[in-house]
Amino acid sequence: MIQESTQPTILVVDDEPTNIEVLARLLQPDHRILFTTDPGRVPALAEQKEPDLILLDVIMPGMDGYEVCRRLKSAPQTRDIPVIFVTAMSEEQFEAIGFDVGGVDYVTKPVKPFLLRARVRTHIDLKRKNDLLKRLASIDGLTGIPNRRTLDEFLRQEWHRGLRHETRLSAMLIDVDYFKKFNDHHGHQAGDRCLRQIADVLTRALERKTDLVARYGGEEFACVLPETPLQGAIHTAQKIQQGVAALAIPHPRSEVAGIVTLSMGVVSITPQRGVEPEEILCAADRLLYTAKQEGRNRIEFAPHTSNLCASAPAAT
Ligand code: GH3
Ligand code: MG
Ligand code: MG
Repeated sequence: MIQESTQPTILVVDDEPTNIEVLARLLQPDHRILFTTDPGRVPALAEQKEPDLILLDVIMPGMDGYEVCRRLKSAPQTRDIPVIFVTAMSEEQFEAIGFDVGGVDYVTKPVKPFLLRARVRTHIDLKRKNDLLKRLASIDGLTGIPNRRTLDEFLRQEWHRGLRHETRLSAMLIDVDYFKKFNDHHGHQAGDRCLRQIADVLTRALERKTDLVARYGGEEFACVLPETPLQGAIHTAQKIQQGVAALAIPHPRSEVAGIVTLSMGVVSITPQRGVEPEEILCAADRLLYTAKQEGRNRIEFAPHTSNLCASAPAAT
């Protein structure tokens, strides 16, 4: 999970191949070196290859290094990749521009090998720690799946995508039945183990890379399925239900079955302007409440087009 041991990748950008060679020689074999002499290709390359660091020349034909850096910093996918400018221009005002456009450091040519290596090491180290922090802030500690914060962010993003492309978005809320009694009977540690097993089933049930499953809180989970109609979401919900049934985790105090079961609310919506993304979860929550009322261990669903949530009671 933590990628400390993998070799850092550095993208070197310079219109002069001999400059690239010099830098590559200084940084190999501890780093994997990618390079290009075409500044216009950098944003796409950076997005595709996800380097840990970019060494960027300033004066290049077509697009200068400052503009390349501005573009990298304006795209969410490449914003966090540190950029070090490597340039023959040592005047203060040029250095200032470099920091202004989002560079983290500025190295002048001819490059001093020890200085370049030290700065590269520092910024890669910082980048990796940042990546780790971001990862830790986005996953749930108990189950290892995304947490609610990630879910909210993802939902907002997919909602806006759905708005732009007028595609359907499905979501489900999932709650373990009689889980308090499960803990009372088996103990809290067995409860934790059970939640981890359920999270595994959920992760395996979601077929598409674009789907997201998250721990919503306590013994509740949520799935967001972009570009998925209701029928597809129900199919996934059934797979989850069968997957958890197949675990056959004994639950003698459940009033609905002798094993652990789930209740689910599934909803599908075409995002509309003026409606908040949270509405879809609210609608799913309302259906989950119905599933509980109707006896648990069941899937309730609805194609959701209007404001279902205004007076919805909350599920537990
Ligand atoms: P219902 O069928 O209506 O959903 O009943 P329930 O008992 O599952 O629901 P309730 O909301 O009353 O209780 C939820 C329980 O989930 C209580 C709480 O102790 C347990 N729980 C929440 N988070 C965790 C956790 O991280 N680990 C464990 N072991 N239990 C948890
Ligand atoms: Mg419950
Ligand atoms: Mg609950």
